[in-house]
Amino acid sequence: MHEMSIAAAVVGQVEAAAEAAGAFAVSSVRLQVGELAGVVPDALRFCFELACTGTVLEGAALATELVPARARCAPCAADWAVGMPPDLCCPTCGTATAELLSGRELQILSVRWEDGPTRAADREPIHEER
Ligand SMILES: [Zn+2]
Repeated sequence: MHEMSIAAAVVGQVEAAAEAAGAFAVSSVRLQVGELAGVVPDALRFCFELACTGTVLEGAALATELVPARARCAPCAADWAVGMPPDLCCPTCGTATAELLSGRELQILSVRWEDGPTRAADREPIHEER
């Protein structure tokens, strides 16, 4: 499944970043998904949940931001929403050599995590009673 390999890649990247930052829990991941990336958001969310199990991301929420596909025509400089299925023929002059401006995005925008217990203890020192 396409979505499963994407989810596994996202979890792997976030896991590495969280580890480097000393985070012990990830609360949410924000993902940018292009219209033409071929990703079904519901399927991705399902796979993401599975991929998170047993990792520092367990229970993390996945937010997806859809990027509409747009193309531009070189000869006449018109740009338009490509749609789905993609229409790469210029609606102004009919040229079929469109340049895709957006729509293939697939990247992590942001990750929210909790600091580890060590750093929480630093902020609030425990005083011993005597
Ligand atoms: Zn054109």
